Amino acid sequence: MISELVKSFQPYRVVEGNYRIRLDKNESPYDLPDWVKEEIFEELRELDFNRYPSITSLPAREAIAEFYGLSPDNVAVGNGSDELLSYLVRLFEGNHIITTPPTFGMYSFYARLNGVPVVEVPLREDFTIDGEAIARKAENARAIFIASPNNPTGNLQPEEEIVRVLETGRPVILDEAYAEFAGKSLWKLIEDYKNLVVLRTFSKAFGMAGIRAGYMLAGEEVVDALYRVKSPFSVGIMTMTAVKVALRHADLMERRVRKIVEERERMRRKLGELAYPSDANFLLVKLDAYEELLKRGIVVRKLSGRLEGHIRVTVGRRWENDAFLKAVREIVGG
Ligand code: PMP
Repeated sequence: MISELVKSFQPYRVVEGNYRIRLDKNESPYDLPDWVKEEIFEELRELDFNRYPSITSLPAREAIAEFYGLSPDNVAVGNGSDELLSYLVRLFEGNHIITTPPTFGMYSFYARLNGVPVVEVPLREDFTIDGEAIARKAENARAIFIASPNNPTGNLQPEEEIVRVLETGRPVILDEAYAEFAGKSLWKLIEDYKNLVVLRTFSKAFGMAGIRAGYMLAGEEVVDALYRVKSPFSVGIMTMTAVKVALRHADLMERRVRKIVEERERMRRKLGELAYPSDANFLLVKLDAYEELLKRGIVVRKLSGRLEGHIRVTVGRRWENDAFLKAVREIVGG
């Protein structure tokens, strides 16, 4: 009954159990404060719950456009940036998509689900993208997916390499889910490159992973194309209201990002040689300690393939990070 394609996908694995410390999903350790939630609730009270939301998520797009000084025609909003990725693998003309492993798995996931071939151009030894190598595979590519900062390696990609890829003229999806932690974004390049789509999310720096809000910044033609195929009501009024209110308090997000970055650097110093440099809210750690950490109530992300023997740890609250560091000392020492 179930198709062979669907059966070829792994069942979704949840880490069962009530673990004390969850540092596995690159979430923000900071929830929205109550006074911001209250502001969201106040606005929601005025809305008609019986009506469908705007098909093109206009209230949220207007708020995001104002934040960037763009037109809403340059903004599309999804139920998380994942939803947008699910369309971006199919939106453009061409054959395959290009990914740069080790990287975020959802690009190839949605490609496979849609029967789109995936061509891999691995990251170099230092985890940077090889713009020339990508360009060599770019002919007739539907889209090229680049995460910067990259998940799970944590590094920003060099601007000149990204520009090299943009110069191919093929659609480039630049996934900047963690850009706030790097203090650097290339979103302004959408003015110069009509083939550039910049993907952002409220799930990380804004601490709203449970709200499900992601967005893309791109040329009008791409945004128009996306709304032709997007599931019409996937972004509800609660999500849009949370986006509007959160953007009003972006200063709060910035303060929290600074705290997370400070913690990241402290963790990195303590981990020494074990940790790679990071521009995101997580660290790639060269330590095969997933099981040992789990025994101590700490959940991190176990990596495989080229990153076999590594873990990815999200920067949490100070006490959580301290517990992680203490556990690592025990594991390495013993
Ligand atoms: N891109 C990258 C690189 C990510 O790591 C994630 C979340 N893990 C996403 C996109 C998706 O985020 P969301 O759907 O919550 O916006």
